[in-house]
Amino acid sequence: MALITCPECDRQVSDRAGACPQCGAPVHLPAKRARSNRLALVAVSAALVVMVGVLLTVSLGNQWAENDAVAERHAETLKTLRGQ
Ligand SMILES: [Zn+2]
Repeated sequence: MALITCPECDRQVSDRAGACPQCGAPVHLPAKRARSNRLALVAVSAALVVMVGVLLTVSLGNQWAENDAVAERHAETLKTLRGQ
């Protein structure tokens, strides 16, 4: 927790308070903190995109591997039916 200066009455206010307890003026987070929050949001979004991409790749890969296995089984069955 950090203290910031109220823009209205110049008193020290907790940065977690939504408004100054003295005068009721809305208290905004310092710009630096807001920027780091935005950076964190971008990082989380990027991580989510990467995770979704990996999940899609893995599930599609599994599906293709399964299709290959089915095709192989069908080929084996055909060979057997043809007496080869
Ligand atoms: Zn104030």
